[in-house]
Amino acid sequence: MNVTKIQHMTFAVRNAQQTLDAYKRLLGAPADAYIKEFAKSRTRAAVFKLGGTEFQISESMDADGRFAAWIDQRGHEGLHHICFAVDNIDEALREAQANGATLKPCAACKVTGSHVHPEGWVAFLQDEVSGIEIEFMQLYKEGESSDRPQGI
Ligand SMILES: [Zn+2]
Repeated sequence: MNVTKIQHMTFAVRNAQQTLDAYKRLLGAPADAYIKEFAKSRTRAAVFKLGGTEFQISESMDADGRFAAWIDQRGHEGLHHICFAVDNIDEALREAQANGATLKPCAACKVTGSHVHPEGWVAFLQDEVSGIEIEFMQLYKEGESSDRPQGI
C-alpha cells in the first residue's frame, strides 16, 4: 500500500467550542473556523486546516456517543484517529487484512469496508497503532464524486 499523506486527524473532546477557541488562541487556527453539527453521526465538530493538515475537533452530541464513550473509556480527551490517504483503498485493505487487520464498521454509516464519504472512499480498521484508530481514504479524482451529504 502507499500512504500519501495524513488526510485528517480527529480529536475526541468534551467541548468542541472550548477546544476550537484554544486552537485559535494558542496555535493560530483560522479565525473563521466554526462548530458545525453533523446530524448523521450525532457529532458537533470544528473542521479546519492547520499546518497543511485537516483537524477535526469532535464532540458527541449524546452522552453515550462515539467520542464521549471513547473519552469515558480512556479517561481523557485525545487523538481519536488518523485518516491516511492511500492511492488505492481496496489494495490497502487487502494488504492490511493479509497482515492480520480486521475491518471495523464506520460509526456514522454502519458500513464495514470501503464506502463513499464526501471526499472519497473510506474504511476503518478494528486494529489500532499506538492507541490510535486507523482510517483509510482514497480521495476522489476529478469526475468521481459522491452525492452523500456532507458528514463526518
Ligand atoms: Zn462512513
